[in-house]
Amino acid sequence: MRIGIDFGGTNIKFGLFAEDGTAQKFASVRVAELAASGNLLCAFLEQAAGFAAGETLRSGGLAMKGVVDRNKGTLINDMGIANIFAGVNVRRLFSERLGIPFSLENDARAYAVGEWKFGAGKAFDSVIVMTLGTGVGCGVILDGQLLVSASPTTGLLGGHISIDRNGPECSCGLRGCLELYCSAARFENQVLATFPELGPVPVPLQRFFAEAAVNPAYGRMLQTFQENLSIGIVNVMNAYGVNNLILGGGLMKSHRIILPRLVELVTRRAWLIPETRVCIVPAALGDQAACIGAAFLDQQDTRKCNDH
Ligand SMILES: [Zn+2]
Repeated sequence: MRIGIDFGGTNIKFGLFAEDGTAQKFASVRVAELAASGNLLCAFLEQAAGFAAGETLRSGGLAMKGVVDRNKGTLINDMGIANIFAGVNVRRLFSERLGIPFSLENDARAYAVGEWKFGAGKAFDSVIVMTLGTGVGCGVILDGQLLVSASPTTGLLGGHISIDRNGPECSCGLRGCLELYCSAARFENQVLATFPELGPVPVPLQRFFAEAAVNPAYGRMLQTFQENLSIGIVNVMNAYGVNNLILGGGLMKSHRIILPRLVELVTRRAWLIPETRVCIVPAALGDQAACIGAAFLDQQDTRKCNDH
């Protein structure tokens, strides 16, 4: 059994997974609930130990928002959500408390490993995994291995690729970054600001996508979204020479509406080997992907290129 933990801004997810990736146990705890104890780090560690109590664990891993030093097992930039880890060797802390080999990784990379090994990417030896959430996360699998290097940001920054140098200023210093247009949060804000009539329903974006074919104003905004996203995707595909891409995030509940034209636009523009087919598929594991990926991080380098 392996334990995977996904530390997000609001919730911490814990999962126990068998070797074939099936979840044996899954739980989600609010960060605020653990913080109420007065020592979030200590409460988090004990929550993990309690979750795994009585199980025979082989290894585990923690997926974190922000930039991590996977080799040292520390957090480099916590994006303001996890200052409890400042100066802490997270990997060693969990490894010693749980008594198992333990890994620390950026959550987008862990998500990519999860989808590649057990989700929508099982058939691919090389695939880019992009998630449209609060921002735009990115992880890259190249020739059967997660792309990492001595630089902690390698392969991660799909959201901070500019698609318009005259666009709005981004917090990173660039203008017109992809995530200013295509993160789920930004796009939803834009849709609701333009079409306030969508606001009161529980899932306004799903209604937006569902009605885009019959409402010309919605249709135009959808087309702009697809145009913008296609430029970002072509950029990352060209950068890595990879023609397979998994798109994740809540927006993909409407993948049947979003993907056909997106694939068409990317195919037209991607300067890949000419006969290479562009393949864009929705993620399959939902919000468990980073958790599963974290559980199998120690194994991700060992897969053979044709082992599927
Ligand atoms: Zn940016």
